[in-house]
Amino acid sequence: MSAAQKESVLVIEDEGKIAEIVRAYLEREGYAVTLAATGEEALRLLKDRFDLVVLDLMLPDMLGEDICSFIRKNSDLPVIMLTAKSGEEERIRGLGIGADDYVIKPFSPRELVARVKALLRRTNKTKKKVFSYNIGSLKISIDDREVFVQGKQMVLTPTEFKILTAFVENPGRIFSRDQLATIAQGFDFEGYDRTIDAHVKNLRHKIEKDSKAPEFIRTVYGIGYRFSGIIDED
Ligand code: CA
Repeated sequence: MSAAQKESVLVIEDEGKIAEIVRAYLEREGYAVTLAATGEEALRLLKDRFDLVVLDLMLPDMLGEDICSFIRKNSDLPVIMLTAKSGEEERIRGLGIGADDYVIKPFSPRELVARVKALLRRTNKTKKKVFSYNIGSLKISIDDREVFVQGKQMVLTPTEFKILTAFVENPGRIFSRDQLATIAQGFDFEGYDRTIDAHVKNLRHKIEKDSKAPEFIRTVYGIGYRFSGIIDED
């Protein structure tokens, strides 16, 4: 498996020792691991793409529950909670806020790795690898970072790819220019509306038949943009 195909796990845990052990075990199994020690750091990192999140409930600056809710509002990213709270009520609450699984501290790292594997297997089965639109005229393979227009592969910049991915993963959603800027550049980006317009323009040139009459990325006047591709039936 090449580095580019490694599945990535974000571990949000403030206890350095635990975080390092989890990292070592996951890396040994071939996962790419990123650590976040605070909620703030986690939210910043979550702008990047991960395949799974391991989330400690007790963080210094934020509640794990709130981070989980944030993730759920924005994606289907699988979440495994680490919790020292072993009461029945907390467990149910942990799953009620959208965690896919949980592990109670102290835990065996092997057990956690087994849960990560099982959850990724479950997720990959249902994950749609290739999105195809308008009778195959636009195909996007998110995992392989490939885009095909009328069967011809197009080279997208990382920013263009991020924008396109946000569109296809949120069908019908209208994105403001600020939201697209955040997706493209991360939280610190100061909204430069015209920069986003330039990215969208370039993207249209690459994926639209006629960039003046776009079928895929439509302008929503006064607000931003929306993806209007019609997904093909399997
Ligand atoms: Ca903690």
